[in-house]
Amino acid sequence: MAFIRTYLSTRLRDRRKTLEAIEKTARSRLQHILQVGQQEVPFHATRIRKAAASHFSEIEPTSKTKMMNRITETLNARTLNQLGSSQHDVQSFVEHYHATGNPWFRNHALMAQTTGTSGRRGLFFRTREELAIQNGISFARSAKYPLSEYIRHMPVRRAVVVMANPFSGSGQSNQYAAKQFRKVVHIKAFLVQSETKEIVHDLNAFDPHHLGSFPLHLERLARLQLKGQLQIRPRIIRFGGSALTPQQLDIITEAFPQAVLKNIYAASECAPIANSCTLGNLHWHKDVAMLECVDKNGFPVPKDEFSHHVLLTNLVRTFQPIIRYKLMDSVNIHSAPCACGSPFPVLEVKGRSNISYPLIDNNGERIEMSSIDILKVINELRIIEDYQMNCTKQNRLSLEVIVKGGPQDALQYKGRHHENILHAFQEHFVKNSCEQATTIEVNYSNPDPKKEKHQAFLLNLPEA
Ligand SMILES: [Zn+2]
Repeated sequence: MAFIRTYLSTRLRDRRKTLEAIEKTARSRLQHILQVGQQEVPFHATRIRKAAASHFSEIEPTSKTKMMNRITETLNARTLNQLGSSQHDVQSFVEHYHATGNPWFRNHALMAQTTGTSGRRGLFFRTREELAIQNGISFARSAKYPLSEYIRHMPVRRAVVVMANPFSGSGQSNQYAAKQFRKVVHIKAFLVQSETKEIVHDLNAFDPHHLGSFPLHLERLARLQLKGQLQIRPRIIRFGGSALTPQQLDIITEAFPQAVLKNIYAASECAPIANSCTLGNLHWHKDVAMLECVDKNGFPVPKDEFSHHVLLTNLVRTFQPIIRYKLMDSVNIHSAPCACGSPFPVLEVKGRSNISYPLIDNNGERIEMSSIDILKVINELRIIEDYQMNCTKQNRLSLEVIVKGGPQDALQYKGRHHENILHAFQEHFVKNSCEQATTIEVNYSNPDPKKEKHQAFLLNLPEA
């Protein structure tokens, strides 16, 4: 019901096409979120109360680290009460979810884990209703595929190429959408970690109308298509997670000349933030995500300039509200409207790009090891919470594992986990045929109290 309701009201409102109508909805949603935050969510209650009455901009910004340190207090206490749950149950859930593999909390909310491209991993909850609302908005605003095409090809086949992870937010949205839209769209997931032969065979057999993935994987598929191994003709290619590099754009459009490219800007903390239009511009869902563009010190940045980061307020989530939350994306909100006629402001996002480490393999050939693949190794280890990887010399990676506590804790941690970490990376190097020349150095340190957030992947190779 929530899906249909949101879908219809969104279509109706969007048809009126005025920014004022959208902003009015945003204002009333914000008021509601603040009320819920103050009355029902311990984590936000103090923050909101501290700010002078109704001065939104005086609420002290928060961060992933701050929220995760007090995660049990970030959930709606009233809802927990209705579910017969306590903060203790939440604590137990977040401590054991890896072992159980179950992302559902009390069958009420789905928990997603951030991919951790920005260091520490965050845990974010969405209720069924919130998921339905999110899908309703996404569908209403991104279903630009002509209705006649849907009818002609019903059900439209959509392939999503993703990592197998029950805690991936985009994977969860897809799974939920697959159920919701099953009569119109047949959504099928393909795993990126599959053997090339397997993924080629399965995608060819499925012959998708739509294809969705992250830029790095789309690039891999485009190369397979150009080699003639993959033979699909998707009409729409959706991507998210990061922007396409110009090279990726070239190769993807060469491989799939008939496809329309669609960019989606979303985060585990809020989906969808923006969707691209027919002209390729990202349109900000101003009634779903409130974004404040700020500089390094948190002061507002004018329109048409890139921010250092943004303060995100999710306008639809009330189970785990997100209010003035530092999202480390550099965003530029345009003052000029888009030529496509959409009333939603245009924005650009920078700084989410995935890094690829250029390595020399055992045969002396150049290869690229992506931060997404490294992240997989780190996630599978399940013992590293915070880290930073760097590469300052050819084929020499260094991993800084950040251990909470003092120097003694770091030492103990090293004693317990060092061999496992080295072993996991060694295996990864062997898998990529680069183990002969590649080394990894692992160091252990404590968090720097002056730094709240750092970049997880760095590349500082001297110019060749
Ligand atoms: Zn546009």
